[in-house]
This record gives sequence, C-alpha cells and structure tokens, in this order.
Amino acid sequence: RFTTPQIRQMLQRQWGDVLLQRLEVIGGIAARLGTPAYLVGGCVRDLLQNRPAPDLDLAIEGDVRALAESPPLQQPHAQCQLHPRFGTATLRYPDGFRLDFARCRIEHYPAPATLPEVRPGDIHSDLARRDFTINAMAVDLNPTTFGELLDPHGGRADLRQGLLRVLHAGSFLDDPTRILRGLRFAVRFQFRLEKGTRALLREALAQDILARLSGARLWRELQYLLELSDLPIALERLGAWRLWPLLRPEPADMESLLVRIRRGHQEIDWFRRHCPDETLFDAAVWLTILWRDIPWTEAEKRLHYWPVAGGHRILRDLRLLPDMPGALTRADRPSAAGRLWERLSLPGLLALCAEYPETDIMVESGHQHLRRQRWLSSPLNGKELQALGLTPGPRLGEVLERLRNARLDGEIKDKETARQWLIGQGILPSIQP
Ligand code: ATP
Repeated sequence: RFTTPQIRQMLQRQWGDVLLQRLEVIGGIAARLGTPAYLVGGCVRDLLQNRPAPDLDLAIEGDVRALAESPPLQQPHAQCQLHPRFGTATLRYPDGFRLDFARCRIEHYPAPATLPEVRPGDIHSDLARRDFTINAMAVDLNPTTFGELLDPHGGRADLRQGLLRVLHAGSFLDDPTRILRGLRFAVRFQFRLEKGTRALLREALAQDILARLSGARLWRELQYLLELSDLPIALERLGAWRLWPLLRPEPADMESLLVRIRRGHQEIDWFRRHCPDETLFDAAVWLTILWRDIPWTEAEKRLHYWPVAGGHRILRDLRLLPDMPGALTRADRPSAAGRLWERLSLPGLLALCAEYPETDIMVESGHQHLRRQRWLSSPLNGKELQALGLTPGPRLGEVLERLRNARLDGEIKDKETARQWLIGQGILPSIQP
C-alpha cells in the first residue's frame, strides 16, 4: 500500500514542485467551495507506474464551472475554457501545462453499445463507470486528505500483476469500444486480460457486439490502434483476441504481413525525414498495406461503413497496385515511371515501397520520384511558349507535358535546351524571329 506521504512524494518527483503546488491550490479552493477534487484515470495509473502522464484529468464532486473559474485558480495567468455541454473545463497554464476538469458522474447504458445516460455522482460512482480497474483509481486533492489513493476496485494489485480487468460483467456489452481500448493498453503496457475478463470478451464477441458500434466510433478506436508504434505486436494481439475480422480476413501469412508493416514504419520515417513540410495520413498507409492481399470488396465493405478521410483514394490505389510492379519494371524511361507513380496517392506509393527491401530498385525509384521528380516542371511555362509562337489550347498543354517528360528523362535542363528541343521536334520552326 502506498501511504499518503508517499503519493505526495511521487507527485513531486514525477511532476515537479510547480505542479504539486498547483494541485494543492486546486484542492484548497475545491474544499472551500464544497466541491472536492480528485486526480483520476490514466494519470493516476501512470503516476503509480512511474510513467510520464501527458495530461491530467480531475474529477470534481460538484460544479466544475465555479471551481475552474475561481479567481485564485487563474493565477498566475492560467486560462480557463469551459465546455458547458459536457460539464467540463480545461485550464491552460502559461508554461503549456494542461488540466482537464470533469464533473463526477454516474453512467447508465439504456441498451448495449449505445451512448450512456449521464447524471451527477460522487467520486465512487465516477470510478465505477470506468473501463478497467487500472484506470479506476483516484488521488484525493482535499487539503486534509491530500495524496490519499482511492482504489475501490483493486487497480493497484492489477497494475502490479499486469492485468486488465473490467469492473463488471456487462462492461464490454455496455461499451464495446472498451475491447479496443483494452487491446491498446495490452500492447502499450504489455498487460494481459485477467481470466474472468477474457471469458467476458469471448462472450461479448460471440454476440457480435462490435457490429453494433457505429462506423465512426469503431474507426476512431481502430485509428488509435494503427497509430501505436508497436503495430506488429498490436496485430499479433488482435489475432490472439480473435479480432481479425474487424480489420480484414485473418492473414494466411502473418510473417510476411509483419515484414511489410515494419517496412511501412521505415517508409513513413523516411518520408518524414525527407519531406518534413508535407502531411501524411499514416492510417491510409497502414490500411493499404493491410488490405493489399485481400479481395477488394472486403476493403470496400469496411470503407463504406468507416468514415476514413480519403477512403476513395485507398480503394483506387488497391485497384492499381497489382499491376504497378510489372508496369514499373517495363517503364523504360524516368518519365514513364514518373507517370506510373503519379497514379498512386502518397500513402499508396509508400505502401508499395514497403513491399520491397529498403535497398530495392523499386524503392529507389519511388523515393526518387518523391524527392525530386514530382516537383520537376517544364522549363518553359505556358506564357513563354505563347511568346515563342504557340497558340493557347489543348496542344499547348500537350507540349508542356512533353517538355516535362523530356526534362525528367534528362534531355533538357533549362529554357535554352528546351527551345532547341522544341525545334528538334519540329514543334517550333528552326529560325525564330
Ligand atoms: P492515455 O494514456 O491513452 O490517455 P487514458 O486512460 O488517460 O490513457 P483516456 O482516453 O484519456 O485514456 O481516458 C481517460 C480515462 O477515462 C480512462 O483512464 C478511463 O478511466 C476513462 N475512460 C475513457 N474511455 C472509457 C470508456 N470507453 N469506458 C469507461 N471508461 C473510460
């Protein structure tokens, strides 16, 4: 058992004096207002595990607004943003530190997989609505009991044993997103499901409970999963938890899929290093890699239901990809290869590169395209071509395209060589006025 001074010491060691002091101020004001405040959820779990917590959540027994907006709390210069619809508030300090306040609540699920009905509650009911015991602990911030750990569901013991345990038998049915949250925690902390929870997972899956989730809620959780840096481990766990059908049919050759996933990480890193100003939607790379070897209709069926940004481009890439390696091998000039690469979206291109070893000529060609070739344009623009006597219209566009290809193929490099080339091609008369 941690004693109260020990928790206080941990708060100080991990988060520093300034934060400790802020929490003491909040606890003091909360007590005066009669709205006790607690640290809750992931940050308490992280504190006990000695991990840095990215953000701190506070649960308040009472009015969030009165506390978050109380003048002493705003010193020095903290900014408060209220979200009245959700009964929550965010306090931002000048040093970038952020605290999220939420009113303690009781949740009731009128039907499986629906959103809960919510009403105000105390800290115990607030902890009882949570997903896993390790996330259902609180630290009291009240001055007389500051630093006391509230652990009514045995979270600490589970944390020590590396166990994920739900709080009641209906947990996965109430909110099936907890299944995917659990998978994420299992991967991040290398935890396993406690035996009873594993049985409850099997029962929930037998009822096909995840099919009741809306596409948006399911996709949000899957996206978090795809963002894990340990994606190969996440996919292995996905298989062990019999969740493959969510994402795709179970792969026949898991090893080769994992090789492509690891290569995908390298490709994404390469892209971030070499094209730092461009945005990339990583999830589209992962979906393309994951769906490359399954029937197109399986991908289409999922994208019909999940709101994936740019989903239609993923489907288009999946149609193009089977023919790409052959066509690229046959491309006899850089311009021909460039035209082929341009047919793919950026995630599609990186997903194709991930199918080859890092040093393969195909990868080199893809990288070359990304770094240099796609930015090359015709040395002469439309205005300059008109000044040389070409009339505006579709033919001008064709000439621009041919000039760009000639530049890609190294036949021209500047305006003068481009002009000579146009003469050589009979596009311009040899004597120019
Ligand atoms: P992370 O480090 O990923 O932020 P977290 O546990 O803080 O982990 P959040 O999604 O920020 O994750 O959730 C904060 C807390 O809210 C959780 O620790 C948990 O107690 C509770 N919670 C979040 N989602 C659910 C859910 N679907 N069902 C029950 N409780 C939940």
